[in-house]
Formats: sequence, structure tokens, C-alpha cells
Amino acid sequence: MAEVAVEIEYLRKRYSGGFEALKGVSLSVPKGSVFGLLGPNGAGKSTLIKSLLTIIRPTECRGTLLGRKIGDRKTLAQVGYLPEHAKFPDYLTGQEVIGYSAGMAGVARATAKERTKRLLALVGMAEWGDRKIGTYSKGMKQRVGLAQALVNEPEVVFLDEPTNGVDPEGRIEIRKIIEAMKAEGRTVFVNSHLLAEVEQVADQVAILSNGNVIRSGSVEALTGAGLQYELRTQGPVPLDLRQKLEAAGLQVAGDRLLIPAKDAAEVQGVIDALRTAGIVIRELKESRQSLEELFLSAVNSAREMAKGGAK
Ligand code: ADP
Repeated sequence: MAEVAVEIEYLRKRYSGGFEALKGVSLSVPKGSVFGLLGPNGAGKSTLIKSLLTIIRPTECRGTLLGRKIGDRKTLAQVGYLPEHAKFPDYLTGQEVIGYSAGMAGVARATAKERTKRLLALVGMAEWGDRKIGTYSKGMKQRVGLAQALVNEPEVVFLDEPTNGVDPEGRIEIRKIIEAMKAEGRTVFVNSHLLAEVEQVADQVAILSNGNVIRSGSVEALTGAGLQYELRTQGPVPLDLRQKLEAAGLQVAGDRLLIPAKDAAEVQGVIDALRTAGIVIRELKESRQSLEELFLSAVNSAREMAKGGAK
């Protein structure tokens, strides 16, 4: 079995006002992977990260972070963190921000200097390190935020909504930086409500809604559950054959067929039937449900169940 970086067996958080933000969450993050915790605003994503990092005290918690009990502060030396809405003083330069974080993490001065240089290059800010934060775009600020999260060479990095407020070009940059972190062997835990983005970078995801994990697994397995094949023919499918195909569960509209199937082998019978009828096939492609579609249907069905339960 792959080694795990984060193993949450059970996590519950009730805030002092009585609001239960996490209702008994379990999840597991393999070492060296990119993990996406997805969910709408208010789902409990930040509460989960803050619980792991001892920023808030969970009501009930069983599990480990890098093999030690969650809540053990010794582990934090091996952890990096970019909080949501991180704000650095406008009057500091990018390299001063990273140097400051290095100091806080107890990194020796000479090492910090060398590391700051390397990290600025990693996040594509080598030429901007001596300019003040106040002159940066939102995307550049976030890149410095990502760099400061790496000053202690952490094994796990927690990023809370790293692309919030960043323009599309900046988001691509951030995605590349996350990929670079993974290539260096780090585990990256990303909170996001931007599914399409996480889909491109995460190996595993969990969907959090209303304090509960409602789906989890590899992006491929989750989106593959709604797998279908789209087939295009030369000209429309004749009526009698169309009726037969529809009776077998296919959707046929003119020259376009949608075939629900787990793999390409299941599609071969349809191809045979079409070919026997003398129909020319123009195109065949796999079409997966996007993470966004999966997310919306999962969140909606969780809401429906909650409504049903409330009756
Ligand atoms: P997310 O990160 O998914 O947007 P949060 O973890 O920030 O969600 O918040 C989850 C829920 O907990 C929200 O309804 C939020 O209002 C509530 N919450 C967050 N912090 C506190 C707090 N300190 N006291 C009471 N409720 C809180």
C-alpha cells in the first residue's frame, strides 16, 4: 500500500456558537500526490486544514499527519501553508517576505538566502524579488505566497484556495508551480471551489458539502463513473436500427450516438451492428463526465437527501 501523508479517520468540528462545520470526515492522502479538497464556499474546507495545522482545535479528531497524531506540533516543521486570503505587507519586497517566513521557520540565515533565490526562480519571480509587494499583481502575490510556503522544505504543503482572485494566466502559472512541488516529491493538499482547475492537477479528490465528504477517489475513477462513448456516422441512422439501439439504452440523434459503456470493448457490438447495416462510421470518442458535472450532481443529491431526512 502507498504510504499516506494525511490519514483522517474521524474529524468533527463544532464552533463555539454551536455550528457544526465538520460532521465526521474521513479521508486519506497518499504521500507524493496532489490532493484536491473541493466544495462550495462554507463547506468546511478551511476548517479542515486549520484543524490539521492546530490553528483551531477540533471537537473530535482521530488520525495522523506524516505518521504522527494530528495535533502534534512537532509535525508542523515538515509542513508548509498558504492560508486563504494571505496578505503580506505592501512595503516588503518579495524576497523579504520569503526571508521573513524562513526566519519564522528557523531556517539558518545563509541557507535562507540561497533558498529564497531558488524559490523565487521556482515560482517564476526571479526578476521581481527585490520589488515591493505593493507593486505586484494578485497572481504575483500568490506566487510569493507559494514560495514562502516552501521555505522549510516541507513534506506536505497545504494551499487554501491558491487561485482565488487570480486571472486565468496566473492560474495556469500556479498550476505549474503545484506540479513542480509534486515533482520535487512533496505532497500537495489544495482546497478549492474551482473544480475545472483542480481536475487538471489533482491525483485524488474529495468533495466536501456541508461538513460531509460526499465523494472521494481518483479523478479518473470519479469522472469515469459517467463514462460514455460518442459515435458519429456518415448520415443519419435509419429509423428501424435507431429504434433497436434506443431499446438497448443508447441515445441516437441523427448521426450522433451516445453509448453508455465502461470501456471500448462494450462499444464493439454497436459498431458491428452499424457496419452490418452498411453505415459508415466517421468518429468515435470517449466522453467523461467532468468533475464539475459530477460535483453538481453529488451536491444536489446530498441536498435532496438532507431535505428528505429533515422531513
Ligand atoms: P470553506 O473553507 O469550505 O469555505 P469554512 O471552513 O471556512 O468553509 O467554513 C465552514 C463553515 O463554518 C461556514 O459556515 C462558516 O461560516 C463556519 N465558520 C468558520 N469559522 C467559524 C468560526 N470561527 N465560528 C463559527 N463558525 C465558523
